[in-house]
Amino acid sequence: MSARVDVLTAGYVGDRVASSVVLVRENDVIVVVDPGMVADRSRILEPLHALGVHEDDVTDVIFSHHHPDHTLNAALFARASYRDVWATYRDDRWDDRCDVLPGAPSVSLMDTPGHTPQDISTLIETDQGLVVCTHLWWSVEGPLVDPLASDQAQLESSRAAVLALAPVMIVPGHGAPFSPSDLPV
Ligand SMILES: [Zn+2]
Ligand SMILES: [Zn+2]
Repeated sequence: MSARVDVLTAGYVGDRVASSVVLVRENDVIVVVDPGMVADRSRILEPLHALGVHEDDVTDVIFSHHHPDHTLNAALFARASYRDVWATYRDDRWDDRCDVLPGAPSVSLMDTPGHTPQDISTLIETDQGLVVCTHLWWSVEGPLVDPLASDQAQLESSRAAVLALAPVMIVPGHGAPFSPSDLPV
């Protein structure tokens, strides 16, 4: 049992900002993590279509947290359930949070506060090992101290909790995927 991870768009920050947007698939569950700001929504849709997925096929959207750069394009996915730190939302239903995605036992949510009090990370068990989508890092280049963090000490303890899981790959909020061994010590 494992899930497949594809990075649709690697994010960046600078004069402009884009979110890292990730596709996760397991069984019939098709998840998009952080469909936020991008240069053009084709930066999400074209890689999605290239993988044979139509936006109406997406069953779940996960928000790492509530900032617009990670949520702006959420409405591209008309049939999805939306998941965040608090709950699952679909149409006019507001239901309890599921820590493990229904139908996707390899995909789970972990509370990782620090950037905001409402940050979660998505943990994905793949054939290669654990992959984590998280805003605990903007990119492998830093910044080590998050200038927007609500609580830097909490952020650092969340980072340590994620690294303790020994992920093989981290997809940061605004950068390309990296291995924990690429992080500065
Ligand atoms: Zn943010
Ligand atoms: Zn961000």
